[in-house]
Amino acid sequence: MCGIFGYIGTRKNVPGLVFEGLKSLEYRGYDSWGLAAPDKNGKLRILKNTGKIGDSRVDSLPDNGMALGHTRWATHGGVTMENAHPHLDCSGRIALIHNGIIENYLEIKKELVKTGHRFRSETDTEVAVHLIEEIISKSEKKGLSRKVLFGRAVRQAFGKFSGLNAVIAMDAESEVFVAAKNGSPLIAGHGESHGENFLASDAHAILPYTRRLYFMEDGEIITLDRSGITVQNLADGQEKPVRFQQIDWKIEKEDKGKLPHFMLKEIFDQPKILLGIAASTEVTLPEFAKLIDNSYGTYLVGCGTAAYACLAGTYIFSKIAKKHVNFSVASEFSYLIDFLTPKSLVIGLSQSGETIDLLDSLKKARGKGVQVGALVNVLGSSLYRMADHKQLLHAGTEKAVVSTKAFTSKLAYLMMIAYLLKKDGVSGRKILETAGREAARVVSSAYRKKIQSLAENLSSAKDIYIIGRGVSYPVALEAALKIKEASYVHAEGFPAGELKHGVIALIEKNTPCIGFLPNDETYNDTLSGLIEMKSRGGLIIGISNKPHECFDIFLPVVDCGIASAIPNTVIAQLLGYYLAIQKGIDPDKPRNLAKSVTVK
Ligand code: GLU
Repeated sequence: MCGIFGYIGTRKNVPGLVFEGLKSLEYRGYDSWGLAAPDKNGKLRILKNTGKIGDSRVDSLPDNGMALGHTRWATHGGVTMENAHPHLDCSGRIALIHNGIIENYLEIKKELVKTGHRFRSETDTEVAVHLIEEIISKSEKKGLSRKVLFGRAVRQAFGKFSGLNAVIAMDAESEVFVAAKNGSPLIAGHGESHGENFLASDAHAILPYTRRLYFMEDGEIITLDRSGITVQNLADGQEKPVRFQQIDWKIEKEDKGKLPHFMLKEIFDQPKILLGIAASTEVTLPEFAKLIDNSYGTYLVGCGTAAYACLAGTYIFSKIAKKHVNFSVASEFSYLIDFLTPKSLVIGLSQSGETIDLLDSLKKARGKGVQVGALVNVLGSSLYRMADHKQLLHAGTEKAVVSTKAFTSKLAYLMMIAYLLKKDGVSGRKILETAGREAARVVSSAYRKKIQSLAENLSSAKDIYIIGRGVSYPVALEAALKIKEASYVHAEGFPAGELKHGVIALIEKNTPCIGFLPNDETYNDTLSGLIEMKSRGGLIIGISNKPHECFDIFLPVVDCGIASAIPNTVIAQLLGYYLAIQKGIDPDKPRNLAKSVTVK
């Protein structure tokens, strides 16, 4: 997960610059943060802390034109100061930060302890920095410069790690960064002035300084100092030409204005985004429709919220285009790929385009010769770059860790593509316009008051059960996820028909039960489910275009056809948001989560 930012050059206040870079990457992980910078004697000084960056200051660090920073999402070792990155070698001249999991770290650690290395943390990461130190100490110097020895040692050390990893090692003695990757994203930026170079986990952190970027590929090792950037193959050390890209993307201003949270701002963004998708004339849309039509099996693959959009896609394509598409949670997809052929189409759905479970499964599927498509929000992300066919979600930057607008954009694009496949783009536009207008009504202050009072009503609930059928089933799953992530209240979504096969045992007096009942063939059966829950004492919340006497609370939604799934989801997002507010939780950065999940 982790945010990474490194700088070498001639600017002043380098720790401050790296710190600002880290702040813009903090959504990647906020268990702890840390910076390393060299002093005049070639020793590294470290500043770290647990928790969010907040208003911390870094002026105590030496300012000598080089610094490296990291925000952590803990995988191995608790959330403590000692476990925060960067980690130092025994000599205090090498600092290292890491994204990923070094799966064989215990074996490596045992050997290093035997040779006298002192470990200060419980992380898997720390073995990397000691191993580099160990390799340098054992290598034949033969008049080689420290820079060369250091680069070789990083390459050799990285070769010993199993798992998907990216590391950046910084040597205070030769004033160089060496980074290697096999999995997590790393981007280098070449500054036009100041003899400077940057490294970061996201392009957007570097773009304010330079637009000349190099997107590292897996299996590469990169060396950066004030004189420039070189790239080699990790496997054989062979140097490669560095093909920079001149990036002309607009830098979006991430501003929540007067609103208290990005999550609320992003919920409010949705009506406009939906109307934009309804009006879209992008040629990529009919292209996707054609690809799906021509494929011998289409698989929609994603994680978390995106997985629920994929599941919704199976209903959307079946209902609208009478086309079967498959769905898999990305972390399970690798175990389902044996039957793929070069005629299969696999479409990855992702907000960040960096989710490692998704990228890894797509790479494995590609090994079977499939075509890879992407519905992705972040331009230039790893998914965007690897896909043969890409459709941007045009949802704008999503900062809140709880994803909202990216989900409804995914639904809207899936619906639009399905209608184009049916050769009925006009109906697609129409239902998305209706859904966009209805989403605008749901986010209006009058409607939000209803949801706010529902949140007050539910604030002491321990469990919430949510049901739906058809496309409302993935909406129920997404609704439960929003409530869990934002407010830490246990919520469970399931297909309404499954209720009587187990879950009904959990319904007691006043257990909140939410049902999605759009004006479609699922209405009556989902209603029966709610009535069964009411018979067991459940507090029934009906979200529908028509009221019913079994509803204790009714949230009306105008019928938008299959696109009712969109305003229904917006209601659930607002419920999650207001439950978080009730409980005093920051919905932009809920505990234990990170925006972009780049570890397995
Ligand atoms: N596995 C490392 C740790 O737990 C890196 C985590 C990350 O990618 O932030 O410190």
